[in-house]
Order: sequence, then structure tokens, then C-alpha cells
Amino acid sequence: MPNTHTPEQIIRAEILALSAYHVPPAAGMIKLDAMENPYPLPSALRDEIAQLALHAPVNRYPDASAASLKETLRQTLGISDNLDILLGNGSDEIIQIIAMAIAKPGAVLMSVEPAFVMFRMIATFANIPYVGVPLKNDFTLDLDAMLAAIAKHQPAVIFLAYPNNPTGNLFNRAAILSIIQATPGIIVIDEAYQAFAEDSFIDQLGHYPNLLLMRTLSKSGLAGLRLGLLIGRPEWLKQLEKVRLPYNIGIMTQLIAEKVLHHTPVLSEQAQAIKSERAKMSAFLGTMRGITVYPSNANFILFRVNAASQIFQALKQHNILIKNLDGTHPLLENCLRETVGTPDENSQFCATLRTILSETV
Ligand code: PMP
Repeated sequence: MPNTHTPEQIIRAEILALSAYHVPPAAGMIKLDAMENPYPLPSALRDEIAQLALHAPVNRYPDASAASLKETLRQTLGISDNLDILLGNGSDEIIQIIAMAIAKPGAVLMSVEPAFVMFRMIATFANIPYVGVPLKNDFTLDLDAMLAAIAKHQPAVIFLAYPNNPTGNLFNRAAILSIIQATPGIIVIDEAYQAFAEDSFIDQLGHYPNLLLMRTLSKSGLAGLRLGLLIGRPEWLKQLEKVRLPYNIGIMTQLIAEKVLHHTPVLSEQAQAIKSERAKMSAFLGTMRGITVYPSNANFILFRVNAASQIFQALKQHNILIKNLDGTHPLLENCLRETVGTPDENSQFCATLRTILSETV
């Protein structure tokens, strides 16, 4: 028998150097860390879903083209016939599909920093150099720096989240349009948080051939289903489809997502409730001494404190889980990110934070 190799001999150095994406245990906690919608679906709708589950032919592979679900998405989102849709097992998977498809020698994947960490991680998975252009101190886009980086690196793809995660803000629309016009490659506008924002680039798809728009149902109440979508011109999506695994969208996801999409008022009422809670939370945080709160167009709020890790740990001891961003990027020093929960969860968060701050000052 030959000598067997160790993982260190076989696995790529960049993968050995990575730490896996950490999902902290949250059993029994008030979970305000992952931008989930805190509201369950109404019970009548859940009964209908139970009926779907009862009759679903789970012995068969799902429809590989998810034709019926795509048609429903097309109608719900008003996607015109000259655009195509590609579905992913969450929008994470769509980022991966794009990265795999463009990964030829010399290709660069670009985003801003701080941004959604998966842009960088997936670039590494696909062996593509990643360029992250720093945002300004107030988390706005540095257009000059972006344009210079585009001229220098000629990125194959740029990902921009609109609103951005983890900062929560919408970048300047005119600046994004300048970037779209300046880049020779693909530009993906990631609208994961669109349900909580007042704006979208969906109306620009007709104007720019290399513009692709990504959405997800995760933040709108269906995170457990894992469904993301990419909208764009057929000439691009035809190529990306080749990289998609044929059965990436399971039968339960297809059936349930389609059912829920026929009840969009439920989702928009929940989004509305989250937006009004967001306003209350921002106002509360704004009144606290020692806290800087950043404006949010998403379902989470970024804020800066004096001792982020200490406050994060103290909240955890009170069974409240948020996200500690301290140490993840120089611009995020002492920053915490809190997902907007139910009114009850939010008031517990506020009361606990108030107590912790009075004790730590
Ligand atoms: N894009 C952004 C900006 C995100 O914040 C997230 C989730 N945190 C995603 C994409 C991925 O979402 P999902 O895979 O659940 O669709």
C-alpha cells in the first residue's frame, strides 16, 4: 500500500488557511444575529403547506428547471420576458456559481470592504484573486477608489450589496451607475435586503447588458427554505446555468416558496412591521450615551460602542445573541450588528443593553 497523504498534502493551501464560516449555537437564545424574519407564517398558510408536504412526490427528483416556481417569481417580481432567472440554494450558491464560471487565470472578483464575507470566501474557494475596495469611514462608497481599482484590475465580476451588509446603508445610486458604466465585466447588485429598502436596480436591467440582479427569500421569512435568484440577460444566464447543479432546488422549497409567493401581502406586512421596529430601535440606540448608530435600510442595525466584545458577551449571558463585528475589519472596530426582532425581543434587547451599559460605564 502506498503512503497515504495527509490533508495538508492534498488540500489547497488557501483552504487550509481558512477558518470555516462560524454559525454560533443559538438554542434557547433570543436570536438577533442572522437577519432572519422573526415572524412565523400565519397558521392557515402553514396548514396549506402541510397539505403540500403530504402529497409531495419526494421519491422523485424535483423539477430541475423549477419552471412553475420561476413563473410565479416572474409574475410576483414583475420580471419582463426578455430577462432570465437562475435559481440557487440560497443566494450564497449563486455567488458560487458565478465565481466558478468566471474562474479563469487572471480573473479578479471585486467588492467593497466591509461587505458580505461570502464574496471574499467564495473567491477563495474558486481560486480567484479577490480585491476589496475600502468604503469611506462613514461606510459610503469611495467612487474614485472604485474607479481606480476597476481600471487597474479589470475585474471579471463586481459584487455590490444594496443595502450593504454589515453596514445596512444604501450606496449612492449615481455612484453605482458610474461603476456599472465603467466596468467591462459583470456587475452583480445583491439586493438581499430589498424588502426593507426603498430602492432597487431592477429597472436598470434593461439598460446595461452586464448588470445582474440577485435577490433572496431568506430575509423575508423563508430562510429555512434556501432560495435565491439571479435576474439578467439570457446570454449571461445561459452560461451560468451550465454550472448550476441540476437538482439544486429541492421539491419542498419549490412547492412552499411558490405557495408563499401567492400570499405576498403576508410577507410585505411582516417587512413593514420590521421596518417600523427598526425605526424604534434606531431611535432607542440613538438616545444611549456612548453609542453611535448607523442609518439602516435593512432588517438589522449597525452600532458602535466603547467595548464591543464585552457588551456582546454580556448580552450572550442574558441569552441574547447578536453579531460582534469587532476585529473583522478596521472600519468596524467596536461595532455590533443587531437584527430587528419582534417587538418583545427588541424590548428585551433594549432593556438588557441599557442595564449592561449602566454597569460597564
Ligand atoms: N447577500 C447578502 C448581502 C447577505 O447578507 C446574505 C446573507 N447574510 C446573502 C447574500 C446570502 O443569503 P442566502 O444565501 O440566505 O440567500
